[in-house]
Amino acid sequence: MRLLVVEDERKLNLGIKRGLEHEGYSVDSVFDGEQGEIFGEDPSYDLILLDVLLPKRNGIVVCRNLRLNKVTTPILVLTAKDTLEDKIFGLDSGADDYLVKPFKFEELLARIRALLRRLPTSLPSRLVLEGLELDTITQTVSIDRKQIDITLKEFRLLEYLLRNVNRVVTREQILDHVWDLSFTSFANVVDVHIKNIRKKIGAKYASFLKTVRGIGYILKDHE
Ligand code: CA
Repeated sequence: MRLLVVEDERKLNLGIKRGLEHEGYSVDSVFDGEQGEIFGEDPSYDLILLDVLLPKRNGIVVCRNLRLNKVTTPILVLTAKDTLEDKIFGLDSGADDYLVKPFKFEELLARIRALLRRLPTSLPSRLVLEGLELDTITQTVSIDRKQIDITLKEFRLLEYLLRNVNRVVTREQILDHVWDLSFTSFANVVDVHIKNIRKKIGAKYASFLKTVRGIGYILKDHE
């Protein structure tokens, strides 16, 4: 899952980014409304966190412009003022939810999870490929009902592959969805994680996970 944080308070922005990355999300930060709108148009984001009082362009305007441009990414508005008018204004602009600052990080996480669950792409929460099961709620992976040890990045990568079964995904797409922009070590990191996943899921399922030379990977539902 890839998130965009549009917030001009640097400390808050980077704090949110760090916290969300710790939860396994990949996060990009921008610090004004103009950048927020440009980045927000990128369809590879699964969710946008959008402050209201921003330099260059107000968050509500950004939100409305994104919706006018047919961007359907869920938007969670972060607002400093707890006034009814602001709430209505925010939701009228096409935002999906709002959170009043200051907020607890747990509250932010809960709202994000709720919004991501609404995504058609995040359904169902259990992804199954024969005896290989990935549960996005408990964040566990099991093979023939036996839970395996897996890191958060491996989990996100496997989730992405399972959501794209029988479709080739490029290394760039994987980097986009599982890592973030500031991550520049590039394609090799994907290969290393794929190698680890193959080891952990065992020979049978590893044989379903094919390398597409020069392009990326494909997880097939048969050998
Ligand atoms: Ca602000």
